[in-house]
Amino acid sequence: MPKAAIITIGDEILRGRIIDTNSAWLAKKLFLLGVDVIHHQTVPDRLDAISKALSYVNEADIIITTGGLGPTPDDATRKALSEFLGKKLIFHEEIAKTIEERFIKRGIKMPEVNLVQAYLPEGGIALENPEGTAPGIFVEWQGKLIFLLPGPPREMQAVYHSVEKILKERFKAKKVLNAIFKTIGVPESVINEWIQGKQIPQSAQISYYPSLRGVDVFIVASDESVLNETKNILSKILGKYTFSHSEEERIEKVIGELLRKRGQTLATAESCTGGMLASWIVDIPGSSDYFLGGVVSYSNEAKMKFLGVSEENLIKYGAVSPQVAFEMSSGVRDRFQATFGIGITGIAGPTGATPTKPVGLVYISVASPEKVWVRKYHFVGGRNAVRTRSATAALNMLWVALKYGELEDYPFEDGGEFAR
Ligand code: ATP
Ligand code: MG
Repeated sequence: MPKAAIITIGDEILRGRIIDTNSAWLAKKLFLLGVDVIHHQTVPDRLDAISKALSYVNEADIIITTGGLGPTPDDATRKALSEFLGKKLIFHEEIAKTIEERFIKRGIKMPEVNLVQAYLPEGGIALENPEGTAPGIFVEWQGKLIFLLPGPPREMQAVYHSVEKILKERFKAKKVLNAIFKTIGVPESVINEWIQGKQIPQSAQISYYPSLRGVDVFIVASDESVLNETKNILSKILGKYTFSHSEEERIEKVIGELLRKRGQTLATAESCTGGMLASWIVDIPGSSDYFLGGVVSYSNEAKMKFLGVSEENLIKYGAVSPQVAFEMSSGVRDRFQATFGIGITGIAGPTGATPTKPVGLVYISVASPEKVWVRKYHFVGGRNAVRTRSATAALNMLWVALKYGELEDYPFEDGGEFAR
């Protein structure tokens, strides 16, 4: 397995102004390519610091840097590499032309400083950058492959295409076989316990990536049969909780596709989540096909006026109650004439709790044409965690309603209980 080191360059990363997403992105890609990433490092935009970082990584067969290829004097990576290699920087007419053409296309005269980007260390190869002016740079040195990529993630990712091509040619690295189970509504520890109880093939690696919105379970295997066997086992355990096998998928997209396919629609009534759920739903392109709208009914008046929640229930049970959640979901469904309505009412905290209604108490309701379900939750965490968990649980309930028809038969593991 070839070994790689990733060096990200930039004062701003060291000062905490920019989060180094480039390292994580590259590491993920390299891992799946069968490259062993042994080192991550961030150094400032200084000649000596960059050279030192390059010389430091002795064990790596591959070194990838990002950042500092821009045209301004603070961009030091190109020069640092040439000094490190002891090679002169050589001007390349054809690179200068490509850069100039890019400016002409935008109707701007190329600033002189950009010509710096047409220099490569002797023996270096330019890597095409369709997203920006600075090409990446590839050099071979003492058996190592060194790649310099631009800093802006969009450009870095575009140039990485060429890197991957070169790596695939050089190393007949074994492709890493992998699969993902994107789950919702089950805590990581529970999933882990279920999996521990099964005979998973020795050579399969299972890792968990939990977030407030669910747990992604990731399998890596060395051969096809091990991968399939592991997938079969996990399907049996996690099948009911898995909404997708594709890494970037979100549950709101899966829900959207189900609604669209059936010609059904959705409306939301949110109190403590304040529109978070609606915002997630409309993040999905084409959501206007099925999402009719939402009401952020924060006050009691808004709940009565826009959703038809009864004053009697508000007085008798309070705004955070199963009765009000019920009236919110069915009220919004009726008023928007949607197929499904969702209602969320709860106490996000840190203030607003009463002796009988602690922070994190949330009632969530889904109304279908046939039935209205209400579940009660005690979420933990700060205000944002409670809101995120609430919107997630609401999507989970709707997904179950769409997929299985009846919520009461579903083996929920989300810590909630039916409240009516
Ligand atoms: P430019 O031509 O813009 O100067 P560059 O290749 O010189 O590009 P930098 O100057 O290091 O790259 O970074 C430019 C911008 O790219 C930064 O302001 C930041 O927004 C982004 N960036 C740089 N490095 C990273 C990183 N490791 N992770 C995420 N974003 C980054
Ligand atoms: Mg720069």
